[in-house]
Amino acid sequence: MSGDRFVFLDRDGTLVEDVGYGHRLEDYALLPGVLEALHALRDAGFRFAIVTNQSGIGRGIFAREDYDRFHGRLLDDLDDAGIRIEHTYMCPHAPDAECRCRKPDPSSLFDARDRFGADLARSWMVGDHVKDVALAANAGCRGLLVLTGHGVEERLRLGETPVAAVVEDLGDATRHILQAVDI
Ligand SMILES: [Mg+2]
Ligand SMILES: [Zn+2]
Repeated sequence: MSGDRFVFLDRDGTLVEDVGYGHRLEDYALLPGVLEALHALRDAGFRFAIVTNQSGIGRGIFAREDYDRFHGRLLDDLDDAGIRIEHTYMCPHAPDAECRCRKPDPSSLFDARDRFGADLARSWMVGDHVKDVALAANAGCRGLLVLTGHGVEERLRLGETPVAAVVEDLGDATRHILQAVDI
Protein backbone atom coordinates (compact mmCIF):
# COMPACT_ATOMS: atom_id res chain seq x y z
CA MET A 1 0.00 0.00 0.00
CA SER A 2 1.38 3.38 -0.92
CA GLY A 3 0.89 6.73 0.72
CA ASP A 4 0.32 10.18 -0.67
CA ARG A 5 2.45 12.08 -3.09
CA PHE A 6 4.01 15.20 -1.64
CA VAL A 7 5.87 18.13 -3.03
CA PHE A 8 8.30 19.35 -0.38
CA LEU A 9 9.03 23.01 -0.85
CA ASP A 10 12.00 25.09 0.09
CA ARG A 11 10.84 28.56 1.11
CA ASP A 12 13.37 31.33 0.43
CA GLY A 13 14.24 31.58 -3.25
CA THR A 14 11.58 29.02 -4.17
CA LEU A 15 8.26 30.35 -2.83
CA VAL A 16 9.31 33.84 -1.76
CA GLU A 17 11.99 36.27 -2.81
CA ASP A 18 15.31 35.47 -1.14
CA VAL A 19 16.59 38.73 0.34
CA GLY A 20 19.08 36.95 2.63
CA TYR A 21 17.86 36.03 6.14
CA GLY A 22 14.41 37.35 5.19
CA HIS A 23 12.31 38.11 8.24
CA ARG A 24 10.86 41.62 7.76
CA LEU A 25 7.34 41.86 6.40
CA GLU A 26 8.41 44.67 4.05
CA ASP A 27 10.79 42.19 2.39
CA TYR A 28 8.08 39.57 1.95
CA ALA A 29 7.21 38.88 -1.70
CA LEU A 30 5.76 35.74 -3.24
CA LEU A 31 7.62 34.80 -6.41
CA PRO A 32 5.65 35.09 -9.67
CA GLY A 33 3.60 32.05 -10.64
CA VAL A 34 3.84 30.34 -7.26
CA LEU A 35 0.11 30.22 -6.54
CA GLU A 36 -0.72 28.95 -10.03
CA ALA A 37 1.93 26.24 -9.71
CA LEU A 38 0.66 25.11 -6.32
CA HIS A 39 -2.92 25.05 -7.58
CA ALA A 40 -1.91 22.79 -10.46
CA LEU A 41 -0.04 20.43 -8.14
CA ARG A 42 -2.89 20.43 -5.63
CA ASP A 43 -5.38 19.64 -8.36
CA ALA A 44 -3.18 16.71 -9.42
CA GLY A 45 -3.45 15.32 -5.89
CA PHE A 46 -0.18 16.45 -4.33
CA ARG A 47 0.06 17.51 -0.71
CA PHE A 48 2.61 20.04 0.52
CA ALA A 49 5.13 20.62 3.28
CA ILE A 50 7.72 23.38 3.55
CA VAL A 51 11.27 22.52 4.56
CA THR A 52 13.33 25.55 5.48
CA ASN A 53 16.66 26.25 7.15
CA GLN A 54 16.48 29.48 9.17
CA SER A 55 19.95 29.70 10.62
CA GLY A 56 19.39 33.45 11.02
CA ILE A 57 17.69 32.51 14.29
CA GLY A 58 20.62 30.45 15.57
CA ARG A 59 23.07 33.10 14.43
CA GLY A 60 21.16 35.76 16.34
CA ILE A 61 20.32 37.76 13.19
CA PHE A 62 16.60 37.69 13.87
CA ALA A 63 14.23 36.34 16.49
CA ARG A 64 11.86 33.41 16.39
CA GLU A 65 9.01 35.95 16.61
CA ASP A 66 10.24 37.60 13.39
CA TYR A 67 10.21 34.22 11.70
CA ASP A 68 6.73 33.48 13.00
CA ARG A 69 5.38 36.78 11.65
CA PHE A 70 7.03 36.42 8.23
CA HIS A 71 6.19 32.75 7.84
CA GLY A 72 2.67 33.33 9.11
CA ARG A 73 2.14 35.86 6.34
CA LEU A 74 3.16 33.26 3.77
CA LEU A 75 0.91 30.58 5.26
CA ASP A 76 -2.00 33.07 5.36
CA ASP A 77 -1.50 33.97 1.70
CA LEU A 78 -1.36 30.31 0.72
CA ASP A 79 -4.39 29.50 2.83
CA ASP A 80 -6.32 32.39 1.25
CA ALA A 81 -5.47 30.86 -2.13
CA GLY A 82 -6.74 27.44 -1.06
CA ILE A 83 -3.30 25.93 -0.59
CA ARG A 84 -2.90 23.85 2.54
CA ILE A 85 0.58 23.26 3.94
CA GLU A 86 0.50 20.11 6.06
CA HIS A 87 3.53 21.12 8.09
CA THR A 88 6.54 23.42 8.05
CA TYR A 89 9.82 21.79 8.95
CA MET A 90 11.96 24.67 10.14
CA CYS A 91 15.52 24.36 11.40
CA PRO A 92 16.46 27.37 13.56
CA HIS A 93 19.99 26.20 14.24
CA ALA A 94 23.33 27.49 13.08
CA PRO A 95 25.17 25.08 10.76
CA ASP A 96 27.66 24.09 13.48
CA ALA A 97 24.92 23.04 15.94
CA GLU A 98 24.98 19.44 14.66
CA CYS A 99 21.19 19.20 14.86
CA ARG A 100 19.08 16.65 13.01
CA CYS A 101 16.65 19.10 11.48
CA ARG A 102 18.87 21.04 9.09
CA LYS A 103 18.73 20.26 5.38
CA PRO A 104 20.11 18.04 3.89
CA ASP A 105 19.47 15.78 6.91
CA PRO A 106 16.48 13.65 5.81
CA SER A 107 14.81 13.51 9.26
CA SER A 108 12.12 16.00 8.21
CA LEU A 109 11.03 13.95 5.22
CA PHE A 110 11.09 10.74 7.21
CA ASP A 111 8.82 12.47 9.70
CA ALA A 112 6.46 13.44 6.86
CA ARG A 113 6.40 9.80 5.78
CA ASP A 114 5.61 8.60 9.29
CA ARG A 115 3.17 11.34 10.36
CA PHE A 116 1.45 12.31 7.14
CA GLY A 117 1.82 9.19 5.04
CA ALA A 118 4.08 10.71 2.43
CA ASP A 119 5.19 8.18 -0.17
CA LEU A 120 8.73 9.46 -0.56
CA ALA A 121 9.52 7.46 -3.69
CA ARG A 122 6.62 9.21 -5.47
CA SER A 123 7.35 12.62 -3.96
CA TRP A 124 9.51 15.59 -4.93
CA MET A 125 11.62 18.22 -3.23
CA VAL A 126 11.98 21.59 -4.96
CA GLY A 127 14.56 24.17 -3.95
CA ASP A 128 17.23 26.61 -5.08
CA HIS A 129 20.18 25.17 -3.15
CA VAL A 130 22.34 22.08 -3.50
CA LYS A 131 21.24 21.10 0.01
CA ASP A 132 17.63 20.94 -1.20
CA VAL A 133 18.34 18.38 -3.89
CA ALA A 134 20.78 16.60 -1.56
CA LEU A 135 17.90 16.31 0.91
CA ALA A 136 15.81 14.68 -1.81
CA ALA A 137 18.57 12.17 -2.50
CA ASN A 138 19.06 11.44 1.21
CA ALA A 139 15.34 10.85 1.69
CA GLY A 140 14.73 8.78 -1.45
CA CYS A 141 12.57 11.27 -3.31
CA ARG A 142 13.29 13.24 -6.48
CA GLY A 143 14.93 16.64 -6.39
CA LEU A 144 14.42 19.62 -8.68
CA LEU A 145 16.75 22.63 -8.59
CA VAL A 146 15.07 25.92 -9.49
CA LEU A 147 17.05 28.83 -10.92
CA THR A 148 15.21 31.42 -8.85
CA GLY A 149 16.85 32.56 -5.59
CA HIS A 150 20.44 31.32 -5.54
CA GLY A 151 19.80 28.63 -8.13
CA VAL A 152 22.05 30.06 -10.83
CA GLU A 153 25.09 29.99 -8.51
CA GLU A 154 24.08 26.76 -6.81
CA ARG A 155 23.75 24.93 -10.11
CA LEU A 156 27.52 25.29 -10.54
CA ARG A 157 28.05 23.58 -7.18
CA LEU A 158 25.88 20.50 -7.85
CA GLY A 159 28.88 18.25 -8.47
CA GLU A 160 27.81 14.63 -8.03
CA THR A 161 24.58 15.49 -6.23
CA PRO A 162 21.75 13.58 -7.95
CA VAL A 163 19.11 15.90 -9.40
CA ALA A 164 16.05 14.93 -11.42
CA ALA A 165 16.20 18.19 -13.39
CA VAL A 166 17.26 21.82 -13.28
CA VAL A 167 14.24 24.02 -14.00
CA GLU A 168 13.53 27.74 -14.29
CA ASP A 169 11.17 28.23 -11.38
CA LEU A 170 8.35 26.56 -9.45
CA GLY A 171 6.05 26.80 -12.46
CA ASP A 172 8.58 24.97 -14.58
CA ALA A 173 9.13 22.45 -11.78
CA THR A 174 5.39 21.84 -11.76
CA ARG A 175 5.32 21.14 -15.49
CA HIS A 176 8.17 18.69 -14.99
CA ILE A 177 6.43 16.92 -12.12
CA LEU A 178 3.08 16.70 -13.92
CA GLN A 179 4.74 15.23 -17.00
CA ALA A 180 6.62 12.66 -14.98
CA VAL A 181 3.76 11.71 -12.75
CA ASP A 182 2.24 8.25 -12.83
CA ILE A 183 -1.44 8.97 -12.29
MG1 LIG B 1 16.16 28.50 -0.69
ZN1 LIG C 1 18.24 22.22 13.24
